[in-house]
Amino acid sequence: MATTTPVQEQPPGPSAPTLAEVLEVLEAMHPARWAQPWDAVGLVCGDPARTVRRVLLAVDPVDAVVDEALAAGADLLLVHHPLLLRPVTSVAATTAKGSVVHRLVEAGCALHVAHTNADAAAPGVSDALARVLDLDGLVPLEPLASEPGRPELGIGRVGDLPAPERLADFADRVAQALPATEQGVRVAGDPDALVRRVAVCGGSGDSLFDRVRASGADVFVTADLRHHPASEARESAAFAGAAGAAGTPHLVDVAHWASEWPWLAGCADRLVTGLAARGRTVDAHVSTTRTDPWVLRVPSRGE
Ligand SMILES: [Zn+2]
Repeated sequence: MATTTPVQEQPPGPSAPTLAEVLEVLEAMHPARWAQPWDAVGLVCGDPARTVRRVLLAVDPVDAVVDEALAAGADLLLVHHPLLLRPVTSVAATTAKGSVVHRLVEAGCALHVAHTNADAAAPGVSDALARVLDLDGLVPLEPLASEPGRPELGIGRVGDLPAPERLADFADRVAQALPATEQGVRVAGDPDALVRRVAVCGGSGDSLFDRVRASGADVFVTADLRHHPASEARESAAFAGAAGAAGTPHLVDVAHWASEWPWLAGCADRLVTGLAARGRTVDAHVSTTRTDPWVLRVPSRGE
């Protein structure tokens, strides 16, 4: 009688890291101490002793992204925005956020947040936005006060285009560089003005107007610009322009999600490289789910 050797399932490869090892690499990339005091970064759920073979990176820890993570068999979902920014007393599955926690825990998928610590890092979130716009000579708009010896760290970036271009052409460059959203790209200023020096801030950057003006930027690219801050910034710039100043900065407003999404690919690369330096291997994937909440833009009458 012939005997057969049963096919044995392969034990976990020795090269797959534990979650604890992944967290060490992430901490080296963007230490939690670089986060703003109000922020909530780090591990939200997950067991550091578990093995991580696959990581999904996304901007938002929303239900559709959890679907994507679980369908991909991810052991770790690494996101930019905190799921639980404010204290909670329950993560019962009876709430939207509690349900996210339950789905991840039950599937054995950890959740980790790198938010304002990733903004401050170099490379960081605004670096990535600046680089897809082809800006050079990048410096932070607001250096990280807690690391005075590290002038490359901080919020926002300012740098230069290879050559001056019309504001309208620059807006088209922004539209081509970022993932598509219903909002598209909005411009405030003279479409024919020439711009070269560009300030950027991934996410909501309207607290940085003074820094943007001080940087000498011709145009500021950010997200979530509201009527009054945008209107007042343009009125001030135009008033100064009438007195002989440059009339800058012009404003380019994009969708928040789109402004931060370019960071994910570089973050995935740095994570894979950092683990490889330790002899560890993971699959890292960037989410393709568009989590911008706006799904439809109806053209104005006559548009
Ligand atoms: Zn954001």
